[in-house]
This record gives sequence, structure tokens and C-alpha cells, in this order.
Amino acid sequence: MSATTIRGSGEQGKAVEYQVQQQDIEFLLDDVFDVQSAWSKIEAFADLSPDVVKAIVAEGGRVAAEVMAPLNQSGDAEGCQWQDGEVTTPTGFAAAFAELAQGGWLGLSGNPQFGGQGMPKSLGCLVEEMFWSANSSLYLYGTLTVGACLCIDAHGSPEQKSVYLPKLYSGEWTGAMALTESHAGTDLGIMRTKAEVQSDGSYAITGQKIFITSGEHDMAENIVHLTLARLPDAPLGSKGISLFIVPKYLPNDDGSVGERNGWSSGSLEHKMGIKGSATSVINYDGAKGFLLGEENQGLAAMFTMMNYERLSVGLQGLGAAQLAYQHSANYARERLQGRAPAGPQNPDAVADSLLVHPDVRRMLLTQRAYAEGCRAMGLYVGMQLDLEKYAGDQRAGRIGQLLTPVVKAFLTDRGLDCAVLGQQVLGGHGYIKEWGMEQIVRDARIGQIYEGANGVQAIDLVGRKIMRDGGKTLQDLLGDITATTVAPEFVEPLADVCQRLDAVTQSVVARAQQDPNLPGAVSVDFLDFVGLTLCAWLWARMASCAPQNEFGDAKRATARYFFARLLPQTLGLEQSIKAESAAVMEMPETLF
Ligand SMILES: Cc1cc2nc3c(=O)[nH]c(=O)nc-3n(C[C@H](O)[C@H](O)[C@H](O)COP(=O)(O)OP(=O)(O)OC[C@H]3O[C@@H](n4cnc5c(N)ncnc54)[C@H](O)[C@@H]3O)c2cc1C
Repeated sequence: MSATTIRGSGEQGKAVEYQVQQQDIEFLLDDVFDVQSAWSKIEAFADLSPDVVKAIVAEGGRVAAEVMAPLNQSGDAEGCQWQDGEVTTPTGFAAAFAELAQGGWLGLSGNPQFGGQGMPKSLGCLVEEMFWSANSSLYLYGTLTVGACLCIDAHGSPEQKSVYLPKLYSGEWTGAMALTESHAGTDLGIMRTKAEVQSDGSYAITGQKIFITSGEHDMAENIVHLTLARLPDAPLGSKGISLFIVPKYLPNDDGSVGERNGWSSGSLEHKMGIKGSATSVINYDGAKGFLLGEENQGLAAMFTMMNYERLSVGLQGLGAAQLAYQHSANYARERLQGRAPAGPQNPDAVADSLLVHPDVRRMLLTQRAYAEGCRAMGLYVGMQLDLEKYAGDQRAGRIGQLLTPVVKAFLTDRGLDCAVLGQQVLGGHGYIKEWGMEQIVRDARIGQIYEGANGVQAIDLVGRKIMRDGGKTLQDLLGDITATTVAPEFVEPLADVCQRLDAVTQSVVARAQQDPNLPGAVSVDFLDFVGLTLCAWLWARMASCAPQNEFGDAKRATARYFFARLLPQTLGLEQSIKAESAAVMEMPETLF
């Protein structure tokens, strides 16, 4: 660890160092999920050898640790600057982004026909977590680009794909997603940005968007906005929204950048965290836009990008949990305070390390249980998406859709929890800037808010995904869980939690028929119940196949901690979900 600042008190702040979890990743790939045999049945991945996969993970880890992580704290301190519509990113960001782009990381899971590498999404999830841990501000420029590629690939014309995808996969151009307006966030149906058709078939886009991540910056030759706007005769609400490609520079026929388009950054938002990520107000003044997909079908098309971003933002939460765990475990090992309850463990020193204290262990084990459990969850959901996309597996697709809001909300909620626990492990030093832990808290917080606030993810899970099939897809998943062979100690608790989740799901489905407020009233607790159940399954699987060595000992101990101390939260959640919606609805609005 390198020292950053000598504090007046004699304490030394230490830079947060990021350690890649290669061993855990290989354990998940090889032993827990046996992804190689899953991929060998998918034609597109049949030739993907284990050595290539491990080399990709190792090189991704190198880029994360050596290129991105060293700029995390300096990027936070320097932030982005705005001057007359031009945005400057922190020192070193442009060079690091160029390295990320040149390494092909933005096109890792992209369409090979247009310069992507066609790797599985599940592999992409593992790599993305490392990038998020290393430098979430810097990776935001990447994830928006990857999402824009997915959307153009799914909905673009052949010409749009050939103009934009190679430039975006290569990182020469970057992507941005322009939905939010000052009066329209969650409720995009009331947005006002206008699109008017022009004689050449393009559209003139006029209006203002706020909070646009990577909307303007100095790291790429061109910035491609995917912008939602409304045609003059469009139906009211979300059925009257269309999606447009609105590049900063209009592409010439030969693919080079041409005329400057009519939009600009009006200002940068001043934020709590992710300060190296440029978040702009964008003013569209008759900017030229090109329809992406069908008129009035824009919101559905945008969901291709949003669903990807939701999974990716969940991985941002996981990245924060992992980074916070590493930093606080390293600190606890070295920090000497007090004595173990059973007597000194390190009698030659002035005090024992923090690791002797049961409550500090509780905090570290909670972080570790969530970080490693959520890594397995991200990979599992990525695998479902691969099975749907490349093997046409509809059941896997339904499970992937069901769990997308769970990954987004559960992982980002736990990410912040773990970051705050890290602050607590560091005590006062967790609150002091030099140690870097307060930055992890500030950076993690946004994950719960953007890409659809977590409350809205929970409503998506209960109000839409559970209600539309009466809980059938969740039942399929619970069937998979109870059918899995795991070590005897986990069989009964897993069966119990599945049975309770199934019963509470049926009760929600039945009660919601009479009570329209019920799904919204219970949804956040329900989502947590699903997240904890899934995590329990994955911990049981990990513990059951862990090797007989120190790595395996840590897995088994953490799994036992999860079952003993974290899974029982579902008992409280179950009770709270059983409460009627009146508990939250009876108070009149005038009394708030
Ligand atoms: C740093 C940052 C970066 C961002 N990047 C982008 C970007 O790149 N592109 C972009 O388009 N937007 C971006 N956003 C916007 C972000 O996605 C929105 O802020 C978010 O979706 C919430 O919308 P809102 O802020 O208008 O809150 P509101 O919609 O006003 O919601 C406020 C609260 O009410 C709850 N709520 C609202 N409606 C409902 C409902 N129907 N049911 C239950 N609860 C509800 C929400 O859960 C939330 O807790 C960014 C925001 C920030 C802060």
C-alpha cells in the first residue's frame, strides 16, 4: 500500500488498493457453475477455451488494477470542469479510457459482425465488476457506450449499425442515454422534448435533458446520444415516445466526423460522488436526430439499453461491496485496538488487532458474504441472459428478466450497506478523506437512484414480473433451488426459505387482486426476500463444492455466517410483507 498523506495526528492515510479476485472468479466459473460445459452447448461459444477465459479475466484484472484504480482517488479530488459548453475530465482519464477502448473491453460481449468480440455476457459481468471496483466514474463512460451498442444492434437499421457500432465498440465514439427531464424522471410518459420530421427524413430535436451521464466530455472523437423525444401527433403518455440517435458530430459517408450537431452541454451537475463522471444538462436546439426503431416505440427500444444498464449498475454495487471489504479487512488486520474478550491474542504488542473483536468480524463477514454471494448472483443472471440470447432458452430468459430488477436493487443496496460498514470498521478514519472509504460510500450511493430508483425496481418485480404470471417464474426458480444437491447442513434451511417465499408470493398475488396498493406497499421487502433467498442458494452451492484448503475454509465459514446471521432477515421481511397496505396508506396526505 502506498501512503498518500501524513496526518497531523500521526496517523497515515492509505490509498485504497484494488486486488483482483481471480481465484474466486475461477472457482465460480469452474466449480460452482461449470460454465465451460454450459458454453460448449452454445454454438457461438463452443470454441471458447478455459485458457482464453482465464486470460481475459486476468487481463481485465490488470487493466482494472493498474490502469483504472490509480486514478480513482485523484479523479474524485479533481472532478470534471465545464467551460463554455466544453467539459474536461480529470487528469489521466482520457489516456486510461483509450487503453480500455484499445484493449477491446467495450466490445467484449458485442456483435462480432461490427467489431465486437462476441464473448458471453456472463464473462462480461465478471469483468465489469472489476472495472466498477477499480474506478466507477471512469467505467461509467464505458458502460453507457456498451448499452448504446446493445440498443443500436437490437433496433438499428443495417446502415445505422455499420455507421455507429464499429466506432462505439472501439471506443473512438462513446454513448449516452438521454431520457430524464427536469419534470420527468421515473415518469417518462410526461416528457416534452420534441422531434419534428424534416424533408430529408431526419428529425429536428428540441428540448432539455438533465442528469445525462457522459453527455459531454473530452475523451472521444464523437458522442452518440440515444435521446427520447415526442412527435407532434404522438399519443399521450409512454406510448407516444420515440427514440433517436443524436450524435455530437454528424457522421460523413466515409465514417469520419462531420458537421457539429445542434446540441450542447448547458452545465455540469454538482454531485455527492462519482465526481470523475461528467453529468450534464443537455440543450437540444433543433439537433439532427435519426429515428432508431419505430415511431412511438421508443420506450420499449430504450429498455434494451436500460435492462443492460440495470444489470451493469447492480455490478457497480457489487464492485463497491468488494472494494469496501478489501479495504476494511486490510485495515482491521493492521489496526491494533483493545484486547480479545478471551484475553490478549498478541501479548507482545500494545493491543490486539481489530480482527479479535466479534462485532468487527460481524461487519467484515457481512461485507464478504454479500460481495461473494452477489458476484455469484451477477454471474448466474448473466448466464440466463446468454442462454436466452444464444440458445433460445425462453425459461432462462424469463428468469433473467425476473431477476434483473433484483440484481439492480439488491446489489446496489448491499453495495452501499457494505461501504458504510467499511466506514464503521475504520472508525473515524472511515470518515476522513485520506483513507478513501468515504469516497466509496459517496460513489456507491448513486447506484440506488439512477437507472430507475430501487423502489421502482421493486415495483417492476412485484407489480409487473410477479403479477403477470402469478409468480410462476419465481416458482420455477424455487424449484431449481430445492432440486440442487448441496451439503446436508444447508438442505433444510434452503427448503424452509423457499417454502416461505413461495407462500408469501401466493399471498401477495391473491391480496393484490383486491388491493391495488398492495404490490407497491410490500415490494421493497419482497425484493430483499428474493435477493436473500437467491444468495442463500448460491452460498450453499459455493460451500458445497469448495476445495479442502484455506480458500475453501473461508467459503464454508462465510456460508455458515450467511445462513446464521443474514438469512434470518427473511423472517422479519415475511412478517412485514404479510401486513396490509393500510399500514402505509391510512395516513391522510394532509398529515405528511
Ligand atoms: C448522477 C446521475 C446520473 C444520471 N444519469 C442519467 C443518464 O445518463 N440519463 C438519464 O436519462 N437519466 C440519468 N439520471 C436520472 C436518473 O435516472 C433519475 O434521477 C432516476 O430515474 C429517478 O428519477 P427522478 O430523479 O426524477 O426521481 P422521481 O421520479 O421524482 O422519483 C423520486 C422518488 O419517488 C419514487 N417514485 C417515483 N415514481 C414512483 C412510482 N410510480 N411508484 C413508486 N415510487 C415512485 C422513486 O422511487 C424515487 O424514490 C441520472 C441521475 C443522476 C443523479
